[in-house]
Amino acid sequence: MHVDVVIVGGGMVGATLARACLQAGLHTALVEARPPSPDAGTGPFAQRVSAITPGAETVLRTLGVWSGVTARRVCAYRRMHVWDALGGGEIHFDARDVAEPRLGHIVENDVLIAALHEQLEGCEVFCPDTISELETKPERVRVRLTSGRVLNASLAVAADGARSRLRGLAGIGFRPRPYAQHALVGPMHMDRAHGACARQRFLPNGPLALLPLPDDWVSIVWTTTPEEAAELAALPEAKFADRLVAASEGVLGSVRHVGPRAVFPLVGGQADVYVQPRIALVGDAAHVIHPLAGQGVNLGILDAATLAESIAGRRDPGRIGVLRRYERARRGDDELTMRLMEAFRYVFGSRLAPVVRLRSLGLSWTDALPPIKTRLTRLAMDIAGERPRLARGLML
Ligand SMILES: Cc1cc2nc3c(=O)[nH]c(=O)nc-3n(C[C@H](O)[C@H](O)[C@H](O)COP(=O)(O)OP(=O)(O)OC[C@H]3O[C@@H](n4cnc5c(N)ncnc54)[C@H](O)[C@@H]3O)c2cc1C
Repeated sequence: MHVDVVIVGGGMVGATLARACLQAGLHTALVEARPPSPDAGTGPFAQRVSAITPGAETVLRTLGVWSGVTARRVCAYRRMHVWDALGGGEIHFDARDVAEPRLGHIVENDVLIAALHEQLEGCEVFCPDTISELETKPERVRVRLTSGRVLNASLAVAADGARSRLRGLAGIGFRPRPYAQHALVGPMHMDRAHGACARQRFLPNGPLALLPLPDDWVSIVWTTTPEEAAELAALPEAKFADRLVAASEGVLGSVRHVGPRAVFPLVGGQADVYVQPRIALVGDAAHVIHPLAGQGVNLGILDAATLAESIAGRRDPGRIGVLRRYERARRGDDELTMRLMEAFRYVFGSRLAPVVRLRSLGLSWTDALPPIKTRLTRLAMDIAGERPRLARGLML
């Protein structure tokens, strides 16, 4: 079979790219190892959630996907409260300060994936299947799948996550940055209403985020040392609840129900290049960033929107000149976000008294400076700066 674009990996980023390529009129194939969950958004809350920015939401709306998310399950948040356990500084963000109805949404990953996959009419979907071989010629790329199918394409895109097999087969290097931190995640039912507020407390070992879900559940992302994460995951529910209440200063009262917990090791890193002839990388296959500010999938969705815009209407979408436009538009942005997160991680991970004092002052000063805070909020929401057409609500 010959297609314009074959995308390997149909997670949140790969499936967004597939939908965008279809909108651009490109003959598209998608290869995904794991079928989407048929009952996403029903039953217990999933362990993995993402904070989706209004900018990424606009991409998904413009692609006709967002209604499938809201029809399932999603929680908007209008406020954010960040505070420092050691130094006492704090900062509040409110959507009203930037004249927006909300700062973002918390979406279960499975919900977004299910909503995307139901909008892939016209796409050649190979699922469950994986890539086994790659052959690149000057005029096309050939992808062999584990099932034995062979796909010829003008362009092959790696959207198969941090340990991308396509990236490896293409010989593109990836510089990992191990963080020596693990994240414990899971849904928790709290005693007090969260009031559509996302909360994050910086603890000595790393941040604890309490992300609002419907019905006063929250999804926690507790970043800490590997040892503490393992200890917390193994605690009986009642003891874990006590630790969570102490770590969150009881801001949402006691824990009514402890949902299933899971631990993920955190790594960061960036691919040496995002493109080479007939190959492009998007999402975590291109860059993995610390979940501290909930930016990974949002950057990935902007990658997908930008790549689709760069190749839309091109006779040969795999030509390196076309692909370089995408790399130029995205690499710097991703790198800046990654460095900012590294700096935050350093500053908020420090126990040195002067650093602790300065960071707390920094938080409180920024809180008291509305113009700076407004600018920061708009940037974090992906509604400022240069954005691809889809993120501005414009079709391809
Ligand atoms: C604890 C934690 C919390 C996070 N919270 C947030 C947040 O709030 N907001 C945010 O923006 N980001 C967050 N992130 C980051 C976010 O989860 C990732 O950036 C995002 O999942 C990347 O999406 P992706 O589609 O590029 O890759 P992945 O989600 O890794 O998806 C890759 C897909 O490719 C498939 N695949 C893999 N290999 C193959 C193969 N060989 N062949 C075919 N298919 C294959 C997989 O099945 C999968 O579906 C968080 C990360 C962590 C660890």
